[in-house]
Amino acid sequence: MTDTTASAAQSSVVASNAAAFEVRPSANPLPAIQRDAALADLKFGTQFTDHMARMQWRKDEGWGDRRVEAYGPLQLDPAAAVLHYAQEIFEGLKAFKWADGSVHLFRPEANAERFNRSAHRLALPQLPVEDFVGSLEALIAADVAWVPGVEESSLYLRPFMFASEAFLGVRPAHVIDYLLIASPVGPYFPGGVKPVSIWVAQGFHRAGPGGTGDAKCGGNYAASLLPQQQAAEHGCQQVLFLDAKNDRYLEELGGMNVFVVRRDGTIETPRLTGTILEGITRSSVIQQLEDDGRKVIEKDITLDEVRAGVEDGDIAEVFACGTAAVVTPVGRLASPTFDVQINGGEAGQVTMGIRQRLTDIQYGRDEDTYGWMRRVA
Ligand SMILES: *Cc1c(COP(=O)(O)O)cnc(C)c1O
Repeated sequence: MTDTTASAAQSSVVASNAAAFEVRPSANPLPAIQRDAALADLKFGTQFTDHMARMQWRKDEGWGDRRVEAYGPLQLDPAAAVLHYAQEIFEGLKAFKWADGSVHLFRPEANAERFNRSAHRLALPQLPVEDFVGSLEALIAADVAWVPGVEESSLYLRPFMFASEAFLGVRPAHVIDYLLIASPVGPYFPGGVKPVSIWVAQGFHRAGPGGTGDAKCGGNYAASLLPQQQAAEHGCQQVLFLDAKNDRYLEELGGMNVFVVRRDGTIETPRLTGTILEGITRSSVIQQLEDDGRKVIEKDITLDEVRAGVEDGDIAEVFACGTAAVVTPVGRLASPTFDVQINGGEAGQVTMGIRQRLTDIQYGRDEDTYGWMRRVA
């Protein structure tokens, strides 16, 4: 994780292109009374703010038409390439309201850089980091009243890009739309953090060598829905994928990276082999753990050793992490051949400590020594 200091140093100098977004205010913003009622009763991903940001790329012209406009349905040609060949990528990040009322994004430049790595894999155009960050700043400026202030809530931001050209030939599209929408979200665990149960995917893999597993593209999620359904049928909230080549090594959950905590305090997580999505929460957790003097090892981890470790107590805790849930304890691991409780099914101390350490920085309760937070309002 030697690159983190460099990107943290860069983060303060990345310029924003927010001023280039033409703001066309919504003619029908939600009245303040209704908005405040919505903000008092938050669910995940069901409520959206009054505006969205957008821009368009054309092969011979590059990016243009930067706008913030009323949130609403898109007009899309039925032949739009995305609907047929899934040339699409997305990102997910959050804006946090601090006690003094200011609003801060968590590592947006890291999302911008990952967006471009995903774009490369899906043969989509690169988006300048200043435009990515600019769209976030421009939308938050228009919808700042939508950033919730309730404890453990945030404004979830969803940038995405897709092939909008009407053309049924199979080639990278010549017209691409970028959009950014925002959704106020409440605590992921209302009523306190509860450990999740995990089912080991049977007969399905999330990614293969050379595939799109390390790109944040919608297609990966489409393919994870059936295994996720399998998990639900076995009473589990999440699915754990093993590697496609050997069907032995832990990769990740449908949308979260995974860590194990050994009894001696050592922490392990699957190494990035091109089939795992490199989470920004994952890299932040690794850096904080290392700075706290813990040993973090990125390596191949077999399901067999995790099962044995949980059974004989050598593995004390398992947790998952991602932007939506931050850090989630795993209390149970199940497959057709075993069903084990981890840490007695309770959230572990190391897991909850990491969660606290990270959310304290995000909510401005602790000093941000990393330069991770970017003030946007
Ligand atoms: C987004 C995502 C993650 C988590 O990444 P964060 O940057 O931490 O939110 C993990 N796995 C998959 C498959 C993802 O799409």
